[in-house]
Amino acid sequence: MSTYTIRLFGDPVLTQPAKEVADVDGRLANLAESMLETMHAANGLGLAAPQVGVQKRMFVYQLGDAEPVTVINPTIVEQRDEWEFDEGCLSIPGLFFPIVRPKEIHLKGYDLDGREISIEADELEARCLQHEMDHLDGRLLLSLLDKDQKKQAMKELRRRGQLDEA
Ligand code: ZN
Repeated sequence: MSTYTIRLFGDPVLTQPAKEVADVDGRLANLAESMLETMHAANGLGLAAPQVGVQKRMFVYQLGDAEPVTVINPTIVEQRDEWEFDEGCLSIPGLFFPIVRPKEIHLKGYDLDGREISIEADELEARCLQHEMDHLDGRLLLSLLDKDQKKQAMKELRRRGQLDEA
């Protein structure tokens, strides 16, 4: 197993939509394992393949004592209610913003054995799934900020020298 370098804001790979996974094979299991290791090393709850430079529609997550989950080619089939939560991102480390998203979602996708999976999630798990879905579409949480939040985020990113685009 090995860990990846997490791509940071400004890296173009983070703003490109990822491609559907055509074949679930053994290499994907290795990728998932390394992504989990990378996520744990960074104390994250979820990590999407584009964040390690891999343009595939796949992400991993793990909440609390639950088993880690890998989701391939996910789609959100249903969403309900709204919930505000301080959301952060491993690709924009140290920045957290209160963001409103649907509170409950129903997500479908495939596991590493190519079997269809169905996840009914709420609150933190639903938040995590939606955040990772956004990564697969090349969307960062910065695009969900209001004007003042965005200003604050840009100021911090400029201070870090991470503001080459946007
Ligand atoms: Zn993220």
